[in-house]
Amino acid sequence: MDTPSDVLHRVFGYDSFRAGQQEIIDHVVDGGDALVLMPTGGGKSLCYQIPALVRRGVGVVISPLIALMQDQVDALRALGVRAGFLNSTQGFDERQLVESEFLAGELDLLYLAPERLRLEATLRLLGKGDISVFAIDEAHCVAQWGHDFRPDYLELSKLRELWPDVPRIALTATATPATHAEISSRLGLDQARHFVAGFDRPNIHYRITAKSEPKRQLLEFLREEHQGDSGIVYCLSRSSVEKIAEFLNDNGIAAVPYHAGLDAATRAHHQARFLREDGLIVVATIAFGMGIDKPDVRFVAHLDLPKSVEGYYQETGRAGRDGLPATAWMAYGLQDVVQHRRMALEGDDAHRRRQVLHLDAMLALCETVSCRRVMLLDYFGQQGSQPCGNCDTCQTPPESWDGTVAAQKVLSAVWRLANERRQKFGVGQVVDILLGKKTAKVLQHGHDTLKVFGVGADLGNAEWHGVVRQLLAQGLLAVESDYGALVLTEASSAVLKGERQVLLRRDTLRPARAKVSSPA
Ligand code: ADP
Ligand code: ZN
Repeated sequence: MDTPSDVLHRVFGYDSFRAGQQEIIDHVVDGGDALVLMPTGGGKSLCYQIPALVRRGVGVVISPLIALMQDQVDALRALGVRAGFLNSTQGFDERQLVESEFLAGELDLLYLAPERLRLEATLRLLGKGDISVFAIDEAHCVAQWGHDFRPDYLELSKLRELWPDVPRIALTATATPATHAEISSRLGLDQARHFVAGFDRPNIHYRITAKSEPKRQLLEFLREEHQGDSGIVYCLSRSSVEKIAEFLNDNGIAAVPYHAGLDAATRAHHQARFLREDGLIVVATIAFGMGIDKPDVRFVAHLDLPKSVEGYYQETGRAGRDGLPATAWMAYGLQDVVQHRRMALEGDDAHRRRQVLHLDAMLALCETVSCRRVMLLDYFGQQGSQPCGNCDTCQTPPESWDGTVAAQKVLSAVWRLANERRQKFGVGQVVDILLGKKTAKVLQHGHDTLKVFGVGADLGNAEWHGVVRQLLAQGLLAVESDYGALVLTEASSAVLKGERQVLLRRDTLRPARAKVSSPA
């Protein structure tokens, strides 16, 4: 039998494993389940491709990236790997061919779109074959708590019941501890070993700046720092994508637009140009980028605020995959916040609360007074790193104020609710209590008799929301699942006992937040 290193050298032509790969591969080859968190570009694919080649049978890969399956399969075939895929873009004959190859044991890897598993026929087909491993790519799609939920992924809970003896490996590049836990429970991966590879991308310089004149700011950024470089500029709307692409071309910078409103041929053409040409810029909505493997993207610029930290991390992670210096630059302004809040109000309650929390975390990253990288790593559960020296807040520390007393007020309100009343409430009620507002809900629960009632008259409603947001961001408060209830964390007590100072950034977002705050 080939060893994993044999396959690495002979099939893929690489000298050595990257950090984490070998351990994961060995574990899966031995038949163990695995949950893998590894940043974009870290080398997740080999973690299931090699076990599929080493173990007997066909490796089945569940992936939502239907548009990329053909490319992935072609690339594998070019290496001599017998790969195929099944998804809705195929005709009957093509599907038949792949199915017969699968049954004849003539495949090493079969890529499958998740919606295929809804079909009895697919399950029957898989049942007749010999499966070596199930790989669940982009596993965060199973988590409703995450930022990219796909209902079809819920079907994947079947795999364990139907194939209890086939090892499963779930992989994702973005998962907070909460998402991580949800992936594990939804997929029944309680026996799985968890592998968390370093989320740090030390070669990426992070910079977030206030938006005043976005076009001019972008132009200045490109001319001063990225003349002639390849990069991606993300915008929220299709119309701003078009406008910015045109603006750059008018200013002598080669750029092409990319968004879901363009026809497939144009999109494919622009994507191919970006991959092939040097120094071309793609101006895009978030429709662009999943699965794109271009090593020398020198910058990712955001002209609008991403919806979540997961999204931000994933999008900026497309820069500097070759390990050379790259920049993640963003300009964000009040208008973005207003727009996101409005968008976040759509959908059902749980969805809305989730969106708001994701947005709050994103804003907190924008507003942090400490190292952005430390905060990003914290967010993904990698605590305890040192300030990086390669982000804007490290290089030019922002203005901050001593928010220790304000923090104590918030935390003691949460503490009193929990300990005196055995209750948990969201940010709205906590702030109303601090402000001493006798709303119906405050009176109904008798919260006007709490000791902290009215102790926060020194700040306004929006400022308190800002304080809470930043406490969440600093891990001094936590939110319990998607209900939005605030709870204390282990770190809270040091603040309550006066042992820890809390620095808060001046809340530049105050005016707009006040305008859009909920009618409560
Ligand atoms: P991910 O899925 O984690 O974003 P990929 O699996 O696409 O990352 O890998 C990113 C790039 O790194 C690919 O070009 C891949 O061929 C390359 N790569 C992966 N593992 C190794 C390795 N051990 N040695 C050299 N290159 C590798
Ligand atoms: Zn830093």
